[in-house]
Amino acid sequence: MTGEKKKKIIKTIRIDVDKCHGCRACEMICSAFHAKPRYSSSNPARSRIRVIRDPLADIYVPVYAGEYTVAECAGRDKYTINGKEYSECAFCRASCPSRADFKEPDSGLPLKCDMCEGEDEPLCVKWCTVDALVVEEREEEVEEEIEQEELEVGLEELASKYGMNTIMDAISRLSKKD
Ligand code: SF4
Ligand code: SF4
Repeated sequence: MTGEKKKKIIKTIRIDVDKCHGCRACEMICSAFHAKPRYSSSNPARSRIRVIRDPLADIYVPVYAGEYTVAECAGRDKYTINGKEYSECAFCRASCPSRADFKEPDSGLPLKCDMCEGEDEPLCVKWCTVDALVVEEREEEVEEEIEQEELEVGLEELASKYGMNTIMDAISRLSKKD
């Protein structure tokens, strides 16, 4: 079913890997912002942005957490940069069953970048002093019903994977006041 079209601001973050020097400030602020209570701890394993680092080759690649997926992908990519080969899943944004990346360490629930909802500017962008991360905005027309369907499908997938009790526990923890 199609519904009313509405305008939506789409935020994206442009990543300039040549500017990144691997300081990991983006990981620290992201995990601190999403800690419960807010700013009570900082643990890169809880960050929604991870920096693939190879200091000897001076290669640093920030990768944002994207959508959760229930199935491992059938085809994978192999990257070779300056002669160094990276693992097949190294630059993938998905939280998926084949690896621990972009998952809450305690619960295993998937992590996804939410653009620091409620903040004027994504905090990783703010804390990246060398402008390796730059926020960009554009306006797009979207249909409200489709967004709702996507949300329902996402919840069903999570419930089938983790069980409804785990999901409800996580929601109740997240909804506690900071
Ligand atoms: S804060 Fe900027 S320079 Fe530092 S690791 Fe993150 S993206 Fe790279
Ligand atoms: S925009 Fe916010 S939630 Fe997304 S990676 Fe950056 S700090 Fe984390």
